[in-house]
Amino acid sequence: MSRQRMSFAERRHQRFVLRALRKANGSRCHWCSKPVRKARANLPSPMPHDIATLDHLEPRSRGGLTDGSNCVVACYACNTERGSMPVEQWQAKLAARSSAEARAA
Ligand SMILES: [Zn+2]
Repeated sequence: MSRQRMSFAERRHQRFVLRALRKANGSRCHWCSKPVRKARANLPSPMPHDIATLDHLEPRSRGGLTDGSNCVVACYACNTERGSMPVEQWQAKLAARSSAEARAA
């Protein structure tokens, strides 16, 4: 994941939006629907895959805003894998994967 350096205010704002989203949408990943865990101040490294992260629908690198209309709760695994992939492309990838999983089961 390519990440620009974030200011303190920006990180604090992200936490604020993340908390609001988790309250509104429950603690599940928007993409894979798996339960996510609340991120703590001191995150272990490597990050557990089920930590709740803030994912931007329109990536920040493409001008997406950090607010409730452009952000969803995503598990760390989905967020990292998606990177700055456009939503349509990412959803197509998820759909392809879930049908592959259904075939395998
Ligand atoms: Zn996920």
